[in-house]
Order: sequence, then structure tokens, then C-alpha cells
Amino acid sequence: MRGFGLAGPGESLSVLCIGAHADDIEIGAGGTLLSWIAAGIRLHVRWCVFSATARRAAEATESARAFLDGASSADIRIKDFEDGFFPYQGSDIKPWMEEQKRGFTPDVVFTHRRDDAHQDHRELCQLSWNTFRDHLILEYEVPKWDGDFGQPNLYMPLEPAVLERKIGLLHTHFDSQQSKDWFDPEVFRGLARLRGMECRAPGRYAEGFVLRKASIG
Ligand SMILES: [Zn+2]
Repeated sequence: MRGFGLAGPGESLSVLCIGAHADDIEIGAGGTLLSWIAAGIRLHVRWCVFSATARRAAEATESARAFLDGASSADIRIKDFEDGFFPYQGSDIKPWMEEQKRGFTPDVVFTHRRDDAHQDHRELCQLSWNTFRDHLILEYEVPKWDGDFGQPNLYMPLEPAVLERKIGLLHTHFDSQQSKDWFDPEVFRGLARLRGMECRAPGRYAEGFVLRKASIG
């Protein structure tokens, strides 16, 4: 499969990460971010979690710092919108989404999938597309009970060591999630292996994204 890179070693790449809950960005795009940093790309990241309070906010902050270790800049922003009720808080959430454009022009925006079964995720996807109309938007996957996966059409191959680091960081930083039956290394590794198989990743693993539209040249 022919691939294209967004930046090479020593080049800069600005990335906006949008996540509803404390671990979403890490699960969906954490391996991609780790890979870019490891490749020597100068990452400038604005990392926005829309709903995390108390223990979850502390976990989100520490995890983001760990995933972005080695990035050229990391601006971590945590908000406290009510978990599970994003569609009813749209008029409050939209201004905060708009605020993320100020002083920052991302080359890439990571956000949730339009077809995600979680209402908070869908709301942020919609607001991402409303707000970022001249940007490359990549929608990431979050496994869940609902079984809502579709067919990604863009892949980021991951080296096995990067995937293991992603899984290790998730389990180090999200102690509050350990009791959830889906929060399991086998879930993350299994999904990555499947996506890696689909794109023939040399390292066997990958993260999958939905790319709705883009222009080249
Ligand atoms: Zn979530």
C-alpha cells in the first residue's frame, strides 16, 4: 500500500487532539503520536479533554504529559463538561471548541468518529467539523461495548515497541479504568493487530482512522 507522510524527521507538525473523556485520545491516536515523536518530528500539540474532573482530570493530565514526552510543545487543556450529556450542552461546548482555534493552526485535527455510538463522541465530531473547515481531520476509533466499529480508510502503522508503550502508558495512568472489562491490553493489541493486517503494516500493528476528505498538492 502506498503511503504518504505528513512530516519527516526534523520537520514541524501541529496537532490538535480532541477527546471527550480522559483516555479517548490516547486510545485512538496515542500510538500515532508516540510514533511521530520517536521519528524525530517536531510535534506541537494542543491536547483538549472536554470532560474530566477530580481523579480523572489528574489522570488525563499525567497521561497526556507522558504521551507527549519529547514533543516540541504540549498545551494540555482539561475541561469539566458533564460526562454523558454533551448533546444537551452544545451551546456551552461549542465556544470552548472555537477557543481551540485561537493562536493555533493545526496541520492535523484528531477527533472522534462521526458514527461513534457514544453521544459525547458524536457531538464532538460534529463540532470539530463545524469549527475546523480548512484542516485535515482524522477521526479515531475507541472500542466499546456497543460494537460500533466501521471500516477505517487511513492507517498509521505502529512498531511493536510503540504499541507496547501505548498499552503500558494507558495502564499506568488510568487506574480508575482498570475495573472496566473493556479496558484490557488484549482489546488494544487485538484491534491494533487487525488494523495492522488491513494495511499490511511491517510491524504488524496499526491505528485506523476515518479520513472523510482531503486535498493533495
Ligand atoms: Zn470517551
